[in-house]
Amino acid sequence: MTELQAAKLKELKGNFRGAIVLPGDNAYESARKIWNAMIDKHPAVILRCATTSDIVHAVNFARDNGIILAVRGGGHNIAGNAMCDDGIVIDLSQMKAARVDPDARRVTVEGGATLADLDAATQAHGLATPVGINSTTGVAGLTLGGGFGWLSRKYGMTIDNLESAEVVTATGEVVRASATEHPDLFWALRGGSGNFGVVTRFEFRLHPVGPDVLSGLIVYPISEAKRVLQQYREFMAKAPEDLSVWPVLRHAPPLPFLPAEVHGKGVIVLALFYAGDPKQGEPLIEPLRKFGTPTGEHVGVQSYTAWQKTFDPLLTPGSRNYWKSHNFSTLKDGLFDVVIEYVEKLPSPQSEFFFGALGGATTRPAPDSAAYAHRDAMFVMNFHGRWEDPADDERCIRWARDFFHASAPFASGGVYVNFLTADEGIRVLTAYGPNYDRLAQVKRKYDPGNLFRMNQNIKPA
Ligand SMILES: Cc1cc2nc3c(=O)[nH]c(=O)nc-3n(C[C@H](O)[C@H](O)[C@H](O)COP(=O)(O)OP(=O)(O)OC[C@H]3O[C@@H](n4cnc5c(N)ncnc54)[C@H](O)[C@@H]3O)c2cc1C
Repeated sequence: MTELQAAKLKELKGNFRGAIVLPGDNAYESARKIWNAMIDKHPAVILRCATTSDIVHAVNFARDNGIILAVRGGGHNIAGNAMCDDGIVIDLSQMKAARVDPDARRVTVEGGATLADLDAATQAHGLATPVGINSTTGVAGLTLGGGFGWLSRKYGMTIDNLESAEVVTATGEVVRASATEHPDLFWALRGGSGNFGVVTRFEFRLHPVGPDVLSGLIVYPISEAKRVLQQYREFMAKAPEDLSVWPVLRHAPPLPFLPAEVHGKGVIVLALFYAGDPKQGEPLIEPLRKFGTPTGEHVGVQSYTAWQKTFDPLLTPGSRNYWKSHNFSTLKDGLFDVVIEYVEKLPSPQSEFFFGALGGATTRPAPDSAAYAHRDAMFVMNFHGRWEDPADDERCIRWARDFFHASAPFASGGVYVNFLTADEGIRVLTAYGPNYDRLAQVKRKYDPGNLFRMNQNIKPA
């Protein structure tokens, strides 16, 4: 930041209700850290906004001074665009309030809330909207890329439940986007990532869920992985939309319900969730126990909010992470062979592979009904390299990339924008797919100068 800009920052301070964090401040080191420890950026200033008006001042300041701008929601994105070097970060982590209208079945949640903040507020009324499977993820980034989790087969993608959003645009204007107000912007926000402005508030439709749900894990040895996956494929083709099952292949963590000799060994875990009455779910999940000889299971009725946090201990911030992802419309035997081959050479104890199950309500909207285009995706795969030591970077990244190439012939060609890393090149176009040109038009209207470019970027048409 130049001296002139630093002087102007002093001016900004006069209008700013939140905290201004500068290099050298006590809070700076923790404020610049995000989920993926591979991201090591040093912003010139982190603006911890407290109000929509703080965000307006921050956007105007960055634009008027020609300073690079990043926006941090939950700070989870693997690509690390929530931080920038030498620029301004609009940090929403202090804006987490969620307000529920139980009669209207709506929630309004601020742009820095995590899934845990949202779920806690809505579950107080026995309500929920579909979000992801790790409760420390940000609502903002997840929603702007599409968003899916355990409830998606029944209630759709997160964006399918978005009713409206309050947005600070590149001109510093505060607008409401919905089906009837700025509908072009509303269309683009639902899958176009952070390209169109800073979302200060999201309004979602809610559905009755839980508060207790049938959910848990059934674990098989890796030696049975192929036949488990084959039966899983047949099972999911007929499964009701209330039921979601995700296979996870990894080294077994030291979970108390697994025999000690299994800990650290290769396993395939069927993570299951039933969105309806647990009693009705019991007989439906029974076949999952007969895919082979399970080494353990931990399935029962627990609160939805507890289930939403089940995977948090395996996904804590501060590790080094590198992902590679494809979408699939069908699962072929050849793909299972590739998956098992690469899982047998996992580069670290924390690395894992999963298929996220979509289908059902996620496939019903037309591919051009919102910016998120991948309505044909029945499964989203993620090869998740995770390790601690920077000396392992090259080896772990190579493993993920090799797997990605080996599995590509079986993929549908699409990819989920929220699972892209920072080095994906033209795959950004694949993520927006056939909606890219329309997104570029909306980008030209709302952000012709590409102020919001720290993201999987859409160039203004
Ligand atoms: C452990 C883990 C588990 C995950 N599980 C799932 C899952 O089950 N389902 C799923 O769909 N996704 C999942 N994801 C992916 C997740 O959706 C993305 O990483 C998402 O971008 C995270 O959002 P965030 O706000 O936490 O991230 P950030 O890094 O803060 O933000 C990501 C990007 O979004 C933009 N952005 C953030 N906030 C705003 C805002 N308020 N206004 C405008 N732009 C903004 C910025 O461009 C930013 O670079 C998971 C990610 C992780 C790390």
